[in-house]
Amino acid sequence: TKAQIGLIGLGTMGAALALNIAEKGFPIAVWNRTTAVTRRFQAEAGELADRVIPTESLADLVAAIAPPRAIILMVPAGQPVDDQITALAPLLDPGDLLVDAGNANFHDTNRRTASDLPMRFLGMGVSGGEEGARHGPAIMGGGARADWDRIAPIMQAIAARAEDGTPCATWMGDAGAGHFVKTVHNGIEYADMQMIAEIYGLMRDGLGMDASGIGETFALWNEGPLKSYLIEISATVSRASDPLTGAPMLDVILDAAGQKGTGRWTAVEAQHLAAPIPVIEAAVMARNVSARLDERKAGEARFGPAPQPLELATAELEAALIAGKILCYAQGFAMIEAAGRNFGWQLDLPGIARVWRAGCIIRSAMLNDMAAALAENPARNLVLAPAFAERLQASIPALRQVVAQGVLHGHALPALASGLSWFDMMRTGRGTANMIQAQRDFFGAHGFDRLDGRDTHHGPWGH
Ligand code: NDP
Repeated sequence: TKAQIGLIGLGTMGAALALNIAEKGFPIAVWNRTTAVTRRFQAEAGELADRVIPTESLADLVAAIAPPRAIILMVPAGQPVDDQITALAPLLDPGDLLVDAGNANFHDTNRRTASDLPMRFLGMGVSGGEEGARHGPAIMGGGARADWDRIAPIMQAIAARAEDGTPCATWMGDAGAGHFVKTVHNGIEYADMQMIAEIYGLMRDGLGMDASGIGETFALWNEGPLKSYLIEISATVSRASDPLTGAPMLDVILDAAGQKGTGRWTAVEAQHLAAPIPVIEAAVMARNVSARLDERKAGEARFGPAPQPLELATAELEAALIAGKILCYAQGFAMIEAAGRNFGWQLDLPGIARVWRAGCIIRSAMLNDMAAALAENPARNLVLAPAFAERLQASIPALRQVVAQGVLHGHALPALASGLSWFDMMRTGRGTANMIQAQRDFFGAHGFDRLDGRDTHHGPWGH
């Protein structure tokens, strides 16, 4: 029998995805650049091995799949994807479908979709890490709807399911829409993680709590409104001990964060779209500062260590995190809304919130309510949706207190503080950009509008 689908790239994600597909009953043909990896994969596939067809050349891979074929690409983003497209071009029929499931830059997916490829092409974002790929990821598809519909039954079968049973695998829109939504997902992921890290810092350096106490606190919060995968794993990593030294695991891990670019892409794209996402931008900035270890050490030696003990209740920290999370998601969804208008995509905001409810790294209890609020009015900023306006009213005082105490006592809180500043701007009807406009008119004759609507647009600057 022929395979119903093929997969290229048996790395961390590809191998897990292939096993997931086989487990759900779909025979799958696989190929990997390094053949030894394919052989090892087959040997370790256990009882699923009889649904896996290992192949040792691209021609054999193509021959093993029932036409019209669908092949998932799970290789590093960028040149490897273009190389695989080139290698497959002479082997595939025009009706065959290539699905790039890596973390592509959505501009690349737009480019590939618009170019005259000799096969059909989809760009598909997959979230959930290895565990998600193996047992149920969140899947964000992009490209021609008819092409998505061809693979949708397999994608829905392997995807995570939300509490109400809906599979978290959805077509987002044309061309790079799926990879775009995955990119913003990752940007929000950076921000969620950074805010948790800031709160962790307040507990560690401000309240003097040890790692296990911090873990207990996160575990408690995971029973409430903050219930989410990232809070859950923060509790787990906080409570873990180092097998080598017995010390808390967190205390032996270097404080320099890595990144592969999706957070930066989100921030760059937001700038192009003029969409304010300061919490995500702060999170990207914080990873960059974290990597400058020597500079930070020199700074501490010259100016003394920044964070000082302070007094805050853990309930205030919890409420601050709730507020920060709402502000961050409000920014992320507003950016997606702006992108939809700008790129001509019919992005379904409540549908995106629903796809993120399970399987992906940012899955959380709050996304259910966000989906409902966005369904009421997708163009309205989430902070103005009644359910979230109420929550903000209840939690902003704590965020303000936490940011104020933190700043007073030398704690760097870039994500939480920038979220709060954005929120305060958002609720200031008469802002300060009149000063900017006067300055712009003074040095560049850029003109301004008047509050009273009168028809003079330049000031009496006398030059
Ligand atoms: P890995 O490094 O584990 O695996 C990479 C795979 O790609 C290997 O099978 C490798 O083959 C193959 N490969 C590398 N370069 C080439 C090339 N030039 N031509 C053909 N094959 C190549 O990566 P991951 O599985 O982690 O990531 C794959 C994609 O999924 C990336 O785009 C990543 O950003 C994305 N992703 C990763 C997530 C994660 O949590 N890891 C989560 C979501 C998306 P070989 O054995 O020969 O080296």
